[in-house]
Amino acid sequence: MSTAALALLCAALAVAGALALAALRAAGDRAAPPLPPLADSELEAAAGIEEELAALVRHPTVSRYDPALEDPSAFEALAAELPRLFPRVHAAIGLERVGDRALLYTWKGEEAALKPVLLNAHFDVVPAEDAAEWRHQPFSGDLAEGCVWGRGTQDIKLTMASILHAAERLLAAGFKPRRTLYFAFGGDEEVGGLRGAAAIGELLARRGVRASFVLDEGGPVADGLFAFADRPVALVGVAEKGYVDVALEAAGSGGHASMPPRRTAAGSLARAVAAVEARRGPARICRSVRALLQGVSRYSGFAYRLLFRNLWLTAPLVKAAFSASGSTNSLIRTTAAPTMLQGSPKENVLADKARAILNVRILPGDSSAAVLGRLSRAAARFGATALAAHPAAVVEPSPESPAEHEGYRAIRSALGASFPEAGCAPFLLSGGTDTKHYLKVAEAVYRFTPLRQTSADLAGIHGRDERVEVGNLRRCALFYAALMRSL
Ligand SMILES: [Zn+2]
Repeated sequence: MSTAALALLCAALAVAGALALAALRAAGDRAAPPLPPLADSELEAAAGIEEELAALVRHPTVSRYDPALEDPSAFEALAAELPRLFPRVHAAIGLERVGDRALLYTWKGEEAALKPVLLNAHFDVVPAEDAAEWRHQPFSGDLAEGCVWGRGTQDIKLTMASILHAAERLLAAGFKPRRTLYFAFGGDEEVGGLRGAAAIGELLARRGVRASFVLDEGGPVADGLFAFADRPVALVGVAEKGYVDVALEAAGSGGHASMPPRRTAAGSLARAVAAVEARRGPARICRSVRALLQGVSRYSGFAYRLLFRNLWLTAPLVKAAFSASGSTNSLIRTTAAPTMLQGSPKENVLADKARAILNVRILPGDSSAAVLGRLSRAAARFGATALAAHPAAVVEPSPESPAEHEGYRAIRSALGASFPEAGCAPFLLSGGTDTKHYLKVAEAVYRFTPLRQTSADLAGIHGRDERVEVGNLRRCALFYAALMRSL
């Protein structure tokens, strides 16, 4: 046997041995069979939250980039109604108005040595321009067909209502938290969070607060999102992708369209956009997605456990499979989606400048500077340029929080009291949250919305007929009560 053949045989034996070991490990470490969901009688413990959420929804707290287009009285009226809805909270827990768009509750803990925890939500909502087509008006807060209807029922007034409802119940039972709990509510998350969460984050930083963790909106208890999982999986965001809107621009001569030059601004721009779309860039499995695959594999069949736990060998297969759909591709790549196109204002006029916007979501480990460099080089080949469209709104990918942290463990154990049928796994969020304003004041940041949702439910966020099923909402309140008790 030649030396080369012997080396090959040794390598093959080593791989086979490692696979056999991995198979043994994968066979053993499987989660116990799922428990049944909570019964209706158990959900009674959070009865009444539906009216409280409905009351919050009835205030049309629509945030806009241009404050002149907002209705400040809606925000004021919502804040003014809170003491009526949650009287014990307002008698026992300190409330500060921070600026004009943020509410900070401080529930003092009994043990000063324990680091505080921040529970966050936002009370602004996106507009509902198509109100006429809703089955129940977007700010009706109607209780019908077993649901609370309206804008904010999913994103994310339900969390604000759940946190305050849980605290109200716990106060009624004489509960005192061991550690200090902050409830931080911003009123402009949908437009960047500068007046809300950023103001609270700065205030806490000035006071030298260093929290154990922040919990804000994020992944759902995903129902059927992973075809290979044998149960719903609570997706606890340990990181979120960065964000930059990139303007691609191509210049042209302008003038009359009856005698066009060989190259036009619109043509150059179109080629640049097509080139960006055609070349997606390399796929990478970052730490939080590795943790997601590891986590979900506990609820999957043997083949998937083998696949997801041996990424040293199987990463190319996983990347190829994940590249096939938009939702999984977003977990392994920085994505650039062309969203807006602009050329000449008239049919028979050549554009002197054509412009496209690429909405870019940046994978942890990548950066806005690197993205702009790559896009600039790609655009230059077609005579186009690439620049950040709104430099002040660029957000770098967040740090990746650990899944071994006390915060993650507390979230997982609170799931047992609210969604016992669900598993739990770390997750990478593609959307942005207010958490970017709290990075300085917390060891770890988690993004999770305790609400069971299918893909269809998730598509309804920011959409028409936004609503939440009452049983699901009550489970959200039970989650927060269990979490507060355990901290
Ligand atoms: Zn939200």
